[in-house]
Amino acid sequence: MNDFIIPLTDDIFFLKGKNDAKYPYSHSLLIGSCLIDTGISKDHLKILKTKNFSIDTIIFSHWHEDHIRDALFMGAGHYLCHPKDKPMIENPWELFKQYTGVEDTQYDDFIFSFLKRLRIKNIKINRIINDNDIIDISENCKLKVIHTPGHTAGHCCYKELNSGIVYLTDIDFKDFGPFYGCQDSSMTDFENSIKKLKKIDMDIAISAHKGIFEGRSLIKQKLDDYQAIIDKRDEKILEYFSETKPIKVEDLILKDIIYKPIHSIDYFKAYYIRNESHMLEQHFERLLSRNVIEPTDKGFILS
Ligand SMILES: [Zn+2]
Repeated sequence: MNDFIIPLTDDIFFLKGKNDAKYPYSHSLLIGSCLIDTGISKDHLKILKTKNFSIDTIIFSHWHEDHIRDALFMGAGHYLCHPKDKPMIENPWELFKQYTGVEDTQYDDFIFSFLKRLRIKNIKINRIINDNDIIDISENCKLKVIHTPGHTAGHCCYKELNSGIVYLTDIDFKDFGPFYGCQDSSMTDFENSIKKLKKIDMDIAISAHKGIFEGRSLIKQKLDDYQAIIDKRDEKILEYFSETKPIKVEDLILKDIIYKPIHSIDYFKAYYIRNESHMLEQHFERLLSRNVIEPTDKGFILS
């Protein structure tokens, strides 16, 4: 059961999330007395508490529920995050529907029972952290904040400067590709964040859902491939277009551009539809700005 704690150096441990960190779990990184994200599961956190780690600080990579769940259980005294994600971490019960864009759906019961199941609580942030800040953990461990907006507005990666280990959190190399479906998400920012990361040397990269990636060239390749998924989505979208038949965002929902048709029978359906609409809208805007498509009264056609 302790095999989820994997040492990377004397002071840095990769903590495997329950169920292979599939949503609603995620992998964490423990650096000295600082834990980055708390989505490994309550069972794992319990075991961590019994070990000889004295965790006094929790650093959040972003506000998503699979990264902040069970955070208060650890009883740490200090909670850090980027200012853009602070409102959601401090008040998720009030803001969750607004940030996920399901305010206008019949979704109240589901959302609130879901947040309850994940034991999501309001967390008071004691310190905000910004791009390039250095969090001085110990003599051996200095953590640099890399603000990487797009997935959420305050999404941050963290580089431990002595080891070259970077926690990439939800720039996660999943086949699904980049997610920019929440109301504070941005496809353009996400692309720019990937470009920013490509300029940073990383010896080990930690994805919050896919685990450990080692070697600078492999990590750069993974970042390239991940970014390319955004362009592939453009290509898939354009397959539906012609110069005569107008297309709207609604016409392309659950057609495997982002989410597969199977999700139409899923309990999360309204959530997927909202996410995909928001993501497709951003693609439409980009294609429009590049003069690839043009508006008509009934939708968009090829220019
Ligand atoms: Zn996330």
